[in-house]
Amino acid sequence: MITIQEALSIVKDNSKPLLKETTKKVEKAGGYLLCQDVVSPIYMPPFRQSAMDGYALCVHDSVEYTLIGEVKAGDDIEPKLLPGQAVRIFTGAAVPDSAGVVIMQEKVTVKGEVILIEDTISDGKNIRPLGEQVQKGGLALKKGTKLTPAAIGYLISLGITEVLVYKKPSIAIVSTGNELVQAGQDLPKGKIYESNSKMLLSALYSLKFYDVEIHTIVDDYEQTKSKLSTIINSSDLVIVTGGVSVGDYDFVGKSLRELAVQELFYKVKQKPGKPLFYGKKGETHIFGLPGNPAAALSCFYLYVYMVLQKMMNRAVVELPRVKAKTTNAFIKRGDRPQFLKAIYKEGNITLLEGQSSAMLQTFALSNALVFVPLEVSNVNVNDELETILLPV
Ligand code: AMP
Ligand code: MG
Repeated sequence: MITIQEALSIVKDNSKPLLKETTKKVEKAGGYLLCQDVVSPIYMPPFRQSAMDGYALCVHDSVEYTLIGEVKAGDDIEPKLLPGQAVRIFTGAAVPDSAGVVIMQEKVTVKGEVILIEDTISDGKNIRPLGEQVQKGGLALKKGTKLTPAAIGYLISLGITEVLVYKKPSIAIVSTGNELVQAGQDLPKGKIYESNSKMLLSALYSLKFYDVEIHTIVDDYEQTKSKLSTIINSSDLVIVTGGVSVGDYDFVGKSLRELAVQELFYKVKQKPGKPLFYGKKGETHIFGLPGNPAAALSCFYLYVYMVLQKMMNRAVVELPRVKAKTTNAFIKRGDRPQFLKAIYKEGNITLLEGQSSAMLQTFALSNALVFVPLEVSNVNVNDELETILLPV
């Protein structure tokens, strides 16, 4: 059985950027990284644009100007101003070529057709120059840029509708077990509602991984082997839950061995999540998470999260960790380091009752996992412990 640190290093060392490319509609490319430079097809702004509601002037040497017309946002007109003439203009409107400045309306007194300027005049004032943000043919965004909402807005403002980005992994979630029935159906004696797959799906969606399929397998060796074979061949990451322990009906481990999946580790000295499997076949990563839901989710945040971040070529591959002070005591039993479901608030942590790996109820209340090292058995009030902040 390996330590948590060893397991994390193995995961880190065996995962790398996916670097497959895919074309996405810009509005659906949030969170993706550009895999090539994006060149602007237009000047931005595409014309000399007024930055104010006010008056565009063809400058002369008096403060008095004669109004000769108006340009609104969206107008396609080009009034020809002579020195001493002005047009009313609005934010976002095209400034006539013959106008050199825009004066904001608050600094102008209007007397019929004549306006008086009460502002200093400097060439180009309140005018956004053509191509101020980016020139036509210029570099709009560099390869590797993460597409934030702002980046998406910017690309769309350039009229770009599709981008080439690094593909996100195709992910398969596989739940195993004869006892599982789908929520919404009757619950016969001996059965439980299957929760792991939807829980992990939700965790993946919240991390913006949407290419996810769910599969279910009953406790049957042949079915487990043949379904896993197909799934592994068509996915970048396979997350199996359950069936990976050593019970008579746990067929996942045996199937993965038969399918020549390279075992990178099986069993980690930790609580929860001891029976954790990680392996690879070709470039496909395979996790066998414990069936117990709370253990499965802990392992997801600790290990699967890291593979996902590495695949996405992100600089930070682990969830944020902070030191936080306990507000209550806890006695750790057994000989494994433990991750405790807890509530983190402003530097303090409350350790929750009900840490069993079968209990999602506690997990549902928590926003953090607190790490209790191997050598600590008694956690006291005000102890400082490392706390993993969950993306909830
Ligand atoms: P296993 O690892 O298959 O022995 O499962 C351990 C425990 O987790 C058992 O109590 C299972 O019923 C439960 N379990 C396994 N898979 C799921 C699942 N997909 N949803 C909810 N509970 C599960
Ligand atoms: Mg099972």
